[in-house]
Amino acid sequence: MKAAAALLILLPLTAHAGDKSTRWVRDSIEYHTLTNQVYAGATREVLATTEAEKLKKKDHWVVVVDVDETILDNSVYQLQMGAYDASFEPASWNAWCERREAAVVPGADAFIAAVHEAGGKVAFVTNRHEVVREATRANLDAFGLWGKDDILCLKTDDEAYDKVKRRTELRTGEGACSWEGKPARVLAYVGDTITDFPEAGEEEGVDRGAQWGTTYFLLPNPMYGSWERGVTRPMPE
Ligand SMILES: [Mg+2]
Repeated sequence: MKAAAALLILLPLTAHAGDKSTRWVRDSIEYHTLTNQVYAGATREVLATTEAEKLKKKDHWVVVVDVDETILDNSVYQLQMGAYDASFEPASWNAWCERREAAVVPGADAFIAAVHEAGGKVAFVTNRHEVVREATRANLDAFGLWGKDDILCLKTDDEAYDKVKRRTELRTGEGACSWEGKPARVLAYVGDTITDFPEAGEEEGVDRGAQWGTTYFLLPNPMYGSWERGVTRPMPE
């Protein structure tokens, strides 16, 4: 009887525990401050490079950004899934994307505006599927985040066409995720997941460790990620 009573007390707490991450993203000054801080750093570093190297539009420099929880805020989808006690699955996710109701991650709009203003282009490299291409582009466009020279590189039915492949295409200028054969000079990568960033092996001489805060800019996402499926933090050596 005592155990049952304890369980009854715990149940509401358990039911709400999972919502804390979404509340933090939507309502806390800490999340808002942190994303603005990351984007301010990214803007500063990108503009410092364009000014130091006198890069202009013709130099074809770009920034590579993820979309979900990097540029667009899908916390309403998380709330909706919580209300239905449901988990992520492609059908509800694509339906959400089609609604084009995602908000903007704080600071993302100022960063994108600064890149466009300085003559840069944006490659949106996302694991949203090709079927929601137009909805995604329209959602970005509604906030003035889409520039006419930007590209949107989505996932296809080919599982092997991952972000590594798409990033390689845009750097080499060969493939669908590129500007018609022109290799792009990437000044910054922004994402909320570790796989949004090239690692040693993908790009010659790149060591992720040295890039954080200079060319790699990581945003917090406590709502979902590969960390849910296992420990992703490296063990101490
Ligand atoms: Mg993301």
